[in-house]
Amino acid sequence: MSRLLFVDDEESIRLLYKEEFGDRGYDVVLASNGEEALEKFAATDPDLLVIDIKMPGMDGIEVLKRIREQSRKVPVILCTAYGEYKQNLETWASDDYVVKSANLETLFRKVERLLSRK
Ligand SMILES: [Mg+2]
Repeated sequence: MSRLLFVDDEESIRLLYKEEFGDRGYDVVLASNGEEALEKFAATDPDLLVIDIKMPGMDGIEVLKRIREQSRKVPVILCTAYGEYKQNLETWASDDYVVKSANLETLFRKVERLLSRK
């Protein structure tokens, strides 16, 4: 079973991830901020991370940088609201990004694709 770590400051989004990815047989780990994300990354050794960019305190870009200092390999998908950050996404060390939406199909596909590459 693949373990996924989702990092998002919004509780409703975390719960959505938990339910939808849990239903699909993934082991879901949640973090509500950057500090917690780094702790859970170290404690649970996830196969892939999905990180919200916009969070109070440490933002998703900073979380990604810290994760990359520890692991060059673990796949990371960044989540952004529509139109934000587009110009910079390719310069960051993420493997992919998604525009946030209530429809998770795109995210499901990207997660599956990245995990199958490992
Ligand atoms: Mg957010």
